[in-house]
Amino acid sequence: PLRVRFCPSPTGNPHVGLVRTALFNWAFARHNQGTMVFRIEDTDAARDSEESYNQLLDSLRWLGLDWDEGPEVGGPHAPYRQSQRMDIYRGVAEKLLAGGHAYHCFCTAVELEARRDAARLAGKPSGYDGTCRNLSEERIERYRAEGRESIVRFKMPDEPITFTDLVRGELTFTPDNVPDYGIVRANGAPLYTLVNPVDDALMEITHVLRGEDLLSSTPRQIALYKALIELGVAKEIPQFGHLPYVMGEGNKKLSKRDPQASLNLYRERGFLPEGLLNYLSLLGWSFSADQDIFTIPEMIEKFDIADVNANPARFDLKKAESINADHIRMLDVKTFAEACEPWLQAPHANWAPEDFDRAAWERIAPYAQTRLTVLSDITANVDFLFLKEPVEDEASWQKAMKEGSDALLRTAREKLDAADWNDPESLKNAVLAAGEEHGLKLGKAQAPVRVAVTGRTVGLPLFESLEILGREKTLSRIDTTLA
Ligand code: GLU
Repeated sequence: PLRVRFCPSPTGNPHVGLVRTALFNWAFARHNQGTMVFRIEDTDAARDSEESYNQLLDSLRWLGLDWDEGPEVGGPHAPYRQSQRMDIYRGVAEKLLAGGHAYHCFCTAVELEARRDAARLAGKPSGYDGTCRNLSEERIERYRAEGRESIVRFKMPDEPITFTDLVRGELTFTPDNVPDYGIVRANGAPLYTLVNPVDDALMEITHVLRGEDLLSSTPRQIALYKALIELGVAKEIPQFGHLPYVMGEGNKKLSKRDPQASLNLYRERGFLPEGLLNYLSLLGWSFSADQDIFTIPEMIEKFDIADVNANPARFDLKKAESINADHIRMLDVKTFAEACEPWLQAPHANWAPEDFDRAAWERIAPYAQTRLTVLSDITANVDFLFLKEPVEDEASWQKAMKEGSDALLRTAREKLDAADWNDPESLKNAVLAAGEEHGLKLGKAQAPVRVAVTGRTVGLPLFESLEILGREKTLSRIDTTLA
């Protein structure tokens, strides 16, 4: 059975790179009826936080990415937080030492640096040089007596490591490029280099899909895995697939600290989870040559790791927004109306919650649905319905109110007063007729009406909007403008 894992460290806010990794693992698991393991890599007490942990869980829930084993749901390999598994790592480190796969390294930072510099100058590989690989017992005693601290270092095999990456094909790393590496700190704290493969082994992970930035740890992990298999801790080396880099502005790698990378931003702006996931899935994968809008069930049905592209993907906010807009249109109107409510009912600078008019909202929602890119845009589109007075938007006013606008508004008011207020067509004809009297086409004639009533030059279809707002308010706003 196929088992994948998503194993973030709870530091900072969740970002889109993390979500992309979670999504690809999840789609891969779901497509293959496999198991999605969610593990929290919180062994770095200085950087990890409970707040980040809670945000991670909350974000995955919001996105609809569920897990079969992990925090809150439990599972046969619990606990799924590494901070609660320290004894396990200590035990494995002991076994690696006893089996000759790892050794105590007493080199100090100063010594390491001096030797590294010398190697560089001599044009030699500058990784750890193996000094402490074969220390005699006496030497070890002496170091200890001197009060030297030691880390545990894993002994890399002296032969190349080759594996077939699920995305990149066959890769080979030579020993010069992968020196012995630390797995336990001097203070006894196990490092990522140890705990990540140990848990992958114990949790029987079959496929590791993760970002390309982790490619250099893969040969180390494979070597460690081999040792774990020898010791009876692991059964089989998983398959690895490295997802391409995501490039942001200026063709630089999108960094976690980039504002565009923050998941919360998309959530606050009113991206739909399915819109965001649809977009993120395209960072390295494609549904088909001519279709980039699809539902998540459709993605699951089609997802194949063999279709993931090794080339860097470009993060394109405009494209993300346009895909989101399509997903907004795909909702049924009731779901759309409900999805907007958090923005409409939020404690608002603009209008009081009691001024929110549900009946009016339900009538105008279908017109809004075809125009929004993100849900948060809804307030500016419908605030004219709920505000006592329309917003004062200076730029709109300047643009629409020209010489002669007053005269036009007066005629329009007269004709609107006499129109059939159950029929937007009748309201349109009233403004059309007013325009004709002043030698203006409909577009020019309706601009001052729109600004007088809604405060803005752009918005939802005007005559439907006026009908929903009602005669009394519409006319009184024109009156206020004319006063
Ligand atoms: N905790 C690691 C990270 O977030 C996991 C990397 C991996 O997938 O192996 O970078």
